[in-house]
Amino acid sequence: MYPWLIPHWQQFLQGAQQGRLAHAWLLCGASGSGKGELARRFANQVLCQSPNQGSPCGHCHACTLLARGHHPDLHQPEVSGRSLGVDTIRALIGQLSVSPQLGQAKVAIVPQAQCMTESAANALLKTLEEPPGAAYLFLLTDQPNALLPTIVSRCRRLLVQPDEACALSWLKQQPAGQAATAMHLRLNQGAPLATLAYLEAGLETQRQQLCQQLWGLVARQGRPGELVKLLESLPLGLSWLQLLLLDALKRQQGLAPAALVMQDCLPLLDGLAAKPTAQLLGLLRGLGRLQEEARQNPLFNVSLGLLDWLNDLLFEEK
Ligand SMILES: [Zn+2]
Repeated sequence: MYPWLIPHWQQFLQGAQQGRLAHAWLLCGASGSGKGELARRFANQVLCQSPNQGSPCGHCHACTLLARGHHPDLHQPEVSGRSLGVDTIRALIGQLSVSPQLGQAKVAIVPQAQCMTESAANALLKTLEEPPGAAYLFLLTDQPNALLPTIVSRCRRLLVQPDEACALSWLKQQPAGQAATAMHLRLNQGAPLATLAYLEAGLETQRQQLCQQLWGLVARQGRPGELVKLLESLPLGLSWLQLLLLDALKRQQGLAPAALVMQDCLPLLDGLAAKPTAQLLGLLRGLGRLQEEARQNPLFNVSLGLLDWLNDLLFEEK
């Protein structure tokens, strides 16, 4: 188990040993924080036929089936097209209301619970309040604010927010993570698994390239068209631009470099911070619109949108 999950695990075991284990859980945490891993471990503990010393045995029939990914009493509805509809949730409730096939309990892990439609969420309320028999529900989300308050209030909430020192020391033990820094973690919302994937995929080089080219542009030494081309090839390009703008706003407020995410781009951040606050805020909104348009409309011309956005960035009031 990932070391930053251990305190949560111990809390869970304590609840189980004292016979007061909550039946409805909401696991919140950034993508790549390990909350899915934690939910699967909880599920394994509940479903294992002979748990020993506070951990699943790893070799009973239930553990074997779980390892293969098909235990009949573990249900994991899938999000289709960014939505979890009422039919999917009703089917899940149906699965939970029949007796377990193998052991004493049934478990549901609902990924991206914020994707539940309003009717799906409403359909789940009663089950969360009074789970049928020995049913356990684990809802996962990286956007708890997007959930109905009635869902949140019916769950035992658990925030997976890895301790930075613990996450870094784990990262440094991974082959691709030896050069990991606190900045890499912050670039990935403090999520160690996301940070490792980021380093493994060579995204750090891409981010540096983007900052360099943007710095050239801000210093009037580059061409917007070149940057648009680069941005089109970077899946995380727009998110990095957002982080840069947020850092520039922090810089305007006089925050120290330690409070910034992109601490290695100070000249660029100061170049951006020299622009009026209203312009930076407008640019942030513009990025949000671009992302939304690109998500909703597959025919949207991102290049053109980016070019407009860069022109807004370079605009200076005379
Ligand atoms: Zn077992």
